[in-house]
Amino acid sequence: MRDESRPALPVNGQNGLNGLNGRNGAHAEAATAATAATKALPRNLAVKCPNCRELLVGKDWEKNLRVCVRCGYHSRLSARERIELLFDDGSFEAFGSDLHSADPLSFVSRTQPYPAYLADYRARAGMDEAVVVGRAHMDGLPIVAAVMDSNFVGGSMGSVVGERVTQAIERAAEERVPLLIVATSGGARMQEGLFALMQMAKTAAALARLAERGVPFICLLTDPTTGGVWASFAALADVIVAEPGAMVGFAGPRVIEQFMHQRLPKDTATAEFALKHGMIDAVAHRRDVRPTLVRLLRMFGAARPA
Ligand SMILES: [Zn+2]
Repeated sequence: MRDESRPALPVNGQNGLNGLNGRNGAHAEAATAATAATKALPRNLAVKCPNCRELLVGKDWEKNLRVCVRCGYHSRLSARERIELLFDDGSFEAFGSDLHSADPLSFVSRTQPYPAYLADYRARAGMDEAVVVGRAHMDGLPIVAAVMDSNFVGGSMGSVVGERVTQAIERAAEERVPLLIVATSGGARMQEGLFALMQMAKTAAALARLAERGVPFICLLTDPTTGGVWASFAALADVIVAEPGAMVGFAGPRVIEQFMHQRLPKDTATAEFALKHGMIDAVAHRRDVRPTLVRLLRMFGAARPA
């Protein structure tokens, strides 16, 4: 079965990413949390694990899907890298890529107007928004996917993210094809105020209609999945799988401690904590994520009405 034998993270993938503006392997590298630690070193030669500080051979780290061999730390991946890792080669076809955020509050941050701020991110992140949605195949099984990217304004959910996710949900409902959302987000995008918060209700309502049609929805939580995304569609899936160590929860532990005025257990707001308390269904190592999702899809497929 090819699931178990997926190659190491490809640098130049074959999936057609219409929603991502010509992002290449060199750029994709900037997407990982470990990048800051590698600045002084030639690219890919060695990587210092941001968690345990172990110096890792870049080649081995890539082969291990950017997971530290010593402590198991899962470095963050961009949307493009996720797509390459999870979906069948060349199977991803994006839709919904022509949407752009409005500036309802005329928001200015550090003298930069919101539209200019977004334009900066578009140039830097090589994406036009914090999510890309499309059709794809996993081990030959058709899915509708929404893949988020924390490199674009922290993966925050504004009106475009909410609308694209909703379009993906509606497409899945219409075509009765399982929905997979790969979540990563710092929460609702404050620059869009109420328009961002509205997306929580909008995506939740669309998911209720998806559930009525009996179409399965699987969510993969990656580091970090917090705020309005966790409090809406990410927590509403039929099955929720998370990567080890991913921050999962409405707020991070520091914010909760400040609010509660008490010390919290060390693993608060992690995937493992959420699993222990029944909030999610499984924690899967990155190498096991694709086989796990494929197994789930087959399971749902077998139960799905013809
Ligand atoms: Zn490590």
